Amino acid sequence: MNDRMTPPPSLLWFRADLRLDDHPALHAALAGGGAVIPVFILDDEAAGSWAPGGAARWWLHHSLAALDAHLRARGSQLLLRRGRAETILAELACQTGARAVQASRATAPWARRQESRVQAALQAAGTALHLHDGTLLHDPATLRTGAGGPYVVYTPFSRAARQALIPGDPLPAPAKISSPALHGTALGALKLLPTRPDWASGLRAAWTPGAAGALQRLTDFLDAALDRYAGARDRPDIDGTSMLSPHLAWGEISPRRIWHALACQPAGQGAEKFAAELLWREFSHHLLWHSPHMPNQPLRPHFARLGWRDDPASRAAWQRGCTGIPIVDAGMRQLWQTGWMHNRVRMIVASLLTKHLLIPWQQGEAWFWDTLVDADLANNAASWQWVAGCGADAAPFFRIFNPVLQGAKFDPDGAYVRRYVPELGKLPTAHLHAPWLAPPAILAAASIRLGATYPHPIVDLAAGRARALAAYADIGARTGAAPAAGK
Ligand code: FAD
Repeated sequence: MNDRMTPPPSLLWFRADLRLDDHPALHAALAGGGAVIPVFILDDEAAGSWAPGGAARWWLHHSLAALDAHLRARGSQLLLRRGRAETILAELACQTGARAVQASRATAPWARRQESRVQAALQAAGTALHLHDGTLLHDPATLRTGAGGPYVVYTPFSRAARQALIPGDPLPAPAKISSPALHGTALGALKLLPTRPDWASGLRAAWTPGAAGALQRLTDFLDAALDRYAGARDRPDIDGTSMLSPHLAWGEISPRRIWHALACQPAGQGAEKFAAELLWREFSHHLLWHSPHMPNQPLRPHFARLGWRDDPASRAAWQRGCTGIPIVDAGMRQLWQTGWMHNRVRMIVASLLTKHLLIPWQQGEAWFWDTLVDADLANNAASWQWVAGCGADAAPFFRIFNPVLQGAKFDPDGAYVRRYVPELGKLPTAHLHAPWLAPPAILAAASIRLGATYPHPIVDLAAGRARALAAYADIGARTGAAPAAGK
């Protein structure tokens, strides 16, 4: 029973916003004046096929541990539960007398449906759900074109989003949070970590999940790489990008915190380009908000009728990084080893899968979902559709990346390929991106036997390209659909 003079506690429902800095829902909970009960609920049933994949679950485990440590340092602790969010939050409200649940608004369709169910369940218990802007710079529900619809083209979207940025300075993390001790589920019991085999050693070496790791990445990037970002961001062989994506995906740092830090840097091409990338994230979430079917269905509906191929053997070779095309194999192995892949290489591997191999983009999206630490429903779906040519404002289908030329241009010394495909390590750079064209003596001198130590290409690039263009011409002829416009 609450003392009549003591305000009731508030539940702080953590979702993909695992931080204390710049957290509007946390500030609203504190403003209630009562105790704050921070809770995270693993609700795989609500997420369905978009429940976090293996790599994201590894990240989540460590991120929850870091959040709990930050809460404990302030006199609080994280209550963990597993099950349906609406049931658990309604039970907790009854048990604690909380009259309000504070949370950050989500954009994933399943999470929005979850919000509606939570709202209904809490209403029945006399408790209110308050949703706050904490994960985006703009409000997708209110940002509209002049004609009143959602944006489907990036450039006008980014212009409008800059003018409509969610106002205010980032909120500081509170020094103290008072919470009652409640009994929850132990972190280990959520079973988020791989058991056998333990495939996470590369992830452990590459990342520090949690808000402190996020802030460190931001500081390092602004100090060391922002100046050269405009040119270096396309080079997988150098550390030219922020690698903030998993931290953003789990909300360990707010985009507003990053935007403000950027505004304090000297203006320049690097800062401008980096801001533009943050706005691509906003754009993806805007698209998902207004087209909730985006993770499953093409935004250009006639692409559902393209002559997609069922080819499990090629898909498996692509997943394992054994396509025989070095830049693709390097990217897919980087993904497997570290849970992350450079953006340029993501585009190259996605283009090979959806165009040269004509394998449905949804199969690539699903593999990325399981293996990326930064798996983000909006960014992943929008990017796959962009590469496949079926998205809003997509790359035209007929623009098909040549992975050999892309490799030579963006990994000019071959350092990236040599790092992830060591069996090609001794091949001279001139032949590295197309070993099947290297003279036999050069292959022998590099101890390479194609088909034995490294695969032959699984697809003839010229023939694959021609087949993709023919499939594209065919849906054009059958549906009368106009070619996709360029970005
Ligand atoms: P930086 O270059 O430092 O950019 C800063 C931030 O801007 C990123 O952290 C990210 O939040 C955002 N951003 C950058 N590029 C994009 C983009 N093209 N679209 C949307 N946001 C962007 N990104 C994800 O976060 N999750 C995904 O699941 C995801 N899947 C992708 C799938 C494919 C096929 C492709 C081509 C791209 C995908 N991306 C995804 C976008 C992009 O590759 C990553 O955001 C980026 O590589 C992350 O590295 P970074 O943090 O160093 O990026």
